[in-house]
Amino acid sequence: VKRWAKRIGLVVAALLVLLIAYGAWRFRHPALPAGTKLLASSPAASGDVTVRFMGTTTLAFSDGHNTVMIDALLTRPDMRAVMFGTVQSDPAIIADVLQRASLDKIDLLFVSHSHYDHAMDAAAVAARTGAVVVGSASTQQVALGGGIPLSRTRIVKGGETFAAGAFKVTVIRSLHSPGDRIPGTIAAPLHQPAKASDYKEGGTFAFLIEHNGQRILVHPSANFVTGMYRGVRTDAVFLATGGLSLQPAKFTQDYWRETVEATGAKLVVPIHWDDFLQPLDQPLQPLRIFLDDIPQTMTRLDVLTARDGVKIRYMPVIAPVALGAAIKSGE
Ligand SMILES: [Zn+2]
Repeated sequence: VKRWAKRIGLVVAALLVLLIAYGAWRFRHPALPAGTKLLASSPAASGDVTVRFMGTTTLAFSDGHNTVMIDALLTRPDMRAVMFGTVQSDPAIIADVLQRASLDKIDLLFVSHSHYDHAMDAAAVAARTGAVVVGSASTQQVALGGGIPLSRTRIVKGGETFAAGAFKVTVIRSLHSPGDRIPGTIAAPLHQPAKASDYKEGGTFAFLIEHNGQRILVHPSANFVTGMYRGVRTDAVFLATGGLSLQPAKFTQDYWRETVEATGAKLVVPIHWDDFLQPLDQPLQPLRIFLDDIPQTMTRLDVLTARDGVKIRYMPVIAPVALGAAIKSGE
């Protein structure tokens, strides 16, 4: 009996070790797949578009005269603050990133939806740069709670077009990636510090940015409305990849058909793949495996890129990328 008890004890101990090892493996940051290519960094000539990426879906497009920005997460609070505490825009981080990105004046700040990882720094960025905040009624409450006057907010439903100099931006109704953990709307001005879960989704949009004949699409959440890009042609898609691994492979194929195939884009720039619980001053790492298996998503996308002759290129962080050269790299 003693021998059996010992054996059972050993088996249980071995299983525990395996379980812990598996947990640690799932908690780790994976590497991006070998062969991942970054777009080369160089500013565009004046009048041409320079793109900058500040992690997750935060992007800025400038032509030396005007700037439009998509989403605003620069503070990137850590896991403890997001899960158990409150989040609050960090003025020092925001000032530093905006300065490094040469973003002193922004015309329009479009917010794709009101989750904190897209919207939490929208008011702070708009306050520093004079931007008009464009988004859902929930996004307007985020802006108002952060002290942005009503006159510098615009509520959209999809289909609206905005201009800033040579930029023309069309708002397109989309859907949040499946399994939205914080659905609903924000009904009153949202003041910080706030719980991450106070940032309810409020409706999701994608954006078509046109500038002197160049057209690019920013698609910040990995879902779609069938036919949403009917009649839209683009040179490049900044494509959200977060959450795709949690769906069957078929979903990624449908997503690709509706966003990349439908628009004829030859360049796909993945966004929303990095672990936004890590600060921006550290190298970006893919989301932890237990949250989202980004390498698996990239493997699924590789099949589609090869089939359709599309190139996948990642953005460097904050460094300027000339949009024209980026588009050429997809040709
Ligand atoms: Zn979201």
